[in-house]
Amino acid sequence: ATPTALLVGTGRGARMGILIKGPEVLESTKKVDTVVLDKTGTVTTGRMELVDVRTAEGESADEALTLAGALESGSEHPIARAVAERAEQRTGSLPAIEDFTNVEGLGVRGTVDGKAVLVGRAELLEKWDVSIPEPLAEAKLAAERAGSTAVVVAWEGRARAVLVIADTVKPTAAEAVRDMRELGLKPVLLTGDNEAVARTIASRVGIDEVVAEVVPQEKVDVVARLQSAGGVVAMVGDGINDAAALARADLGLAMGTGTDVAIEASDITLVRGDPRAAVDAIRLSRKTLGTIK
Ligand code: ADP
Ligand code: MG
Repeated sequence: ATPTALLVGTGRGARMGILIKGPEVLESTKKVDTVVLDKTGTVTTGRMELVDVRTAEGESADEALTLAGALESGSEHPIARAVAERAEQRTGSLPAIEDFTNVEGLGVRGTVDGKAVLVGRAELLEKWDVSIPEPLAEAKLAAERAGSTAVVVAWEGRARAVLVIADTVKPTAAEAVRDMRELGLKPVLLTGDNEAVARTIASRVGIDEVVAEVVPQEKVDVVARLQSAGGVVAMVGDGINDAAALARADLGLAMGTGTDVAIEASDITLVRGDPRAAVDAIRLSRKTLGTIK
């Protein structure tokens, strides 16, 4: 394509809410055959809500919510915000956190009310040798099978509750996936979330290939693996945890609704945060470069 055609293409993109970093980006877009989609905030709205608190025998849901809410007020994660918000509504104010560690991709840890508290994935609890009693593990699995995210709350060495957090699939996600297939693109769902949740969300939007339970540092490895298998990979993401993968991908597309770090690491920003715009961007580049009419 001529430089003029590329400029016309980027201008057209801008009017569609597709901000392309430079005309050369369109060139790298045309050969894309695989689209990796982050789950939370990309395929789903990322607006999470706490919908249930399940406790182990003899434990108090209020206490679990207060301790978890206090700890999560130290984190920016969408799950954390949902938990802290509901806990605050319920109790008015939350106790102070005495120390706080964000274990990226796993959860949070800290001291609240003199108690060592953990909130997050089962793997987080394992790190501190805390096991999950069977009934609680079952409640967690049931929530995950229904497509919700479930995190465990533990304090003083015992897992005591499961917080059930629901996120909703973006209304246009299924259509975006269908359009990708029509253009011959293979969609892959990539998430740090649990396998059962990921499978449920994937089947709701029509994705067959799922890579779940990936810690943030591994997202980039998944993209690299697809590339070394011969794929030309586009990655669509919104979070800090997606930045390395967005930079590594042949084409990185960030949700405009996402974090600045993701936007900086990307070639294209989708202003409205609509996954259909990812397809529009690929279609636009093919048109601009004369691959399709
Ligand atoms: P995604 O790849 O879907 O954007 P993340 O990598 O951010 O998800 O998180 C992966 C998982 O780690 C979450 O589904 C959750 O189980 C756990 N997790 C991460 N941060 C927190 C937190 N602040 N509180 C509780 N759980 C968390
Ligand atoms: Mg995300």
